[in-house]
Amino acid sequence: MRSYQLFINGQFIDAADGRTFESTDPFTGKPVASVARAGAEDVHRAVTAARAAFDRGPWPSMPHTERSALLKKVVDVINARQQELIGLEVSDSGSTIRKAKEDISLAARSLNYFAKMAAQPLESEIDGLSKPGFSRNILTWEPIGVVAAIIPWNFPLKMAIWKLGPALAAGNTIILKPSELTPVTAMELARMVSEAGFPPGVINIVPGFGSDAGEALVRDPRVDKISFTGSTAVGRKIMSMASETLTKVTLECGGKSANIVLEDADVDLAVDGALYAIFYHQGQCCEAGSRLLLPESLHDTFVDRMAAKVRRMTIGDPNDPATDIGPLISRQQRERVMGYIESGSREGATLAVGGRIPTDKKLEHGMFVEPTIFTGVKNSMRIAQEEIFGPVLSVIPYATDDEAVSIANDSIYGLGGGVWSADRDRALSIARRLRCGTVWINEWHLISEKAPFGGYKQSGIGREFGVEGIKEYAEAKHIHVDEVGIRAKKFWYDTVVPK
Ligand code: NAP
Ligand code: MG
Repeated sequence: MRSYQLFINGQFIDAADGRTFESTDPFTGKPVASVARAGAEDVHRAVTAARAAFDRGPWPSMPHTERSALLKKVVDVINARQQELIGLEVSDSGSTIRKAKEDISLAARSLNYFAKMAAQPLESEIDGLSKPGFSRNILTWEPIGVVAAIIPWNFPLKMAIWKLGPALAAGNTIILKPSELTPVTAMELARMVSEAGFPPGVINIVPGFGSDAGEALVRDPRVDKISFTGSTAVGRKIMSMASETLTKVTLECGGKSANIVLEDADVDLAVDGALYAIFYHQGQCCEAGSRLLLPESLHDTFVDRMAAKVRRMTIGDPNDPATDIGPLISRQQRERVMGYIESGSREGATLAVGGRIPTDKKLEHGMFVEPTIFTGVKNSMRIAQEEIFGPVLSVIPYATDDEAVSIANDSIYGLGGGVWSADRDRALSIARRLRCGTVWINEWHLISEKAPFGGYKQSGIGREFGVEGIKEYAEAKHIHVDEVGIRAKKFWYDTVVPK
């Protein structure tokens, strides 16, 4: 079993109170790592280190190309250690090996993008602010300072990179708290960072629990920016804690994304796309297409074809490349998902397929739930309104395009959405009416570090990725440079100051 210490101020150390916790494999139920458990005192130390590295350390003023080169070193190590990292992600998070391969290679690709972005300062001239020749106006983006990043368990290394990359590219220092359920690859990242030679305190990684390490981080007044990915419920708490000090927040929270199939869609493609949208990573994706809106004309055939394919899905060992559906992350998550399945039946929806815990002896130690489809769902039901974060699809029929749009938007969430149609213009006009941060037309789950991603409404605040995402880690500064220098030409010439 691997064992990990906290990574603070460039050093690997035990927790101040000596506590540790175990991370387990969601398939075997066995421990995979023993990990130091950060408490309030450790977090205090990590913030002190990040603060010193920002206020007095070389990082914020280091030439952009040097910062970029350090990030690039980590990219190279991730690529070199790809196979090992895939294995660790599978055993710590229950990700299927097919997904984990994609995750690790995308983690490296994203960090490479941020390394490139780090190489150039974000700076431009504001034109037309004064008469020509009177002044020069510079818009520059400076690092905010110390960033606290808190991440969930569904894409462990990728999420860590998605916080580290833009925060560091913008010149901040950072303290990262991985999920208590999946700390392993984040702690491997700490080792890579340590070997790459980042100045001490620039990156600190404090595995621990939300209730102690997480809250201590959020409440520390020396933190300038909180970047959180997780549930809307915890997002609300974080925003409320941050309000004490007006600490800036980016919140990437939950979703209940609507996937709208139009009657002119390519049905073969849309059936596969709808299954991919919901069952990828057992539905444990914030952008999962968990509400499927079907036109009455296609409804029955579409559901039959989906159900037939679901029955052919392989539920099993996530290490096996033939496995389509792996375990959920934890017993608690499985209970939550089963609770929603019961609630769907109680509220009158019909189970088209799935709905049970598999009885196969080989799966008895894993947290499995069958891929499940409900039909006859009303958008007011809990299974249509609340984020389940498991392999449960709610199928809702609709009659007109207007009705589909209105059902899709009738949600507290607004993260993703999708439209399947052969008519690009019609699909595009629906896409523009959906109140959410990303819409896919004849596609799903494509999230790129080059395009902003984030939520409308209670799916979050702010955006990750792209230039927009880097700016979330920066303060805009306007520098006005007078170019005239003649008192008589100042607009304040005859105002307050006596001649
Ligand atoms: P979660 O329970 O909200 O936890 C997320 C992180 O916050 C974990 O590191 C957690 O620590 C920590 N935390 C919990 N309570 C805290 C507190 N009081 N103060 C500070 N930190 C606290 O979410 P999850 O179950 O890990 O992940 C699933 C959720 O994440 C879903 O709702 C999903 O939609 C959302 N998500 C959103 C996106 C997006 O980009 N929009 C992406 C992925 C996931 P522990 O490890 O101790 O729980
Ligand atoms: Mg684990």
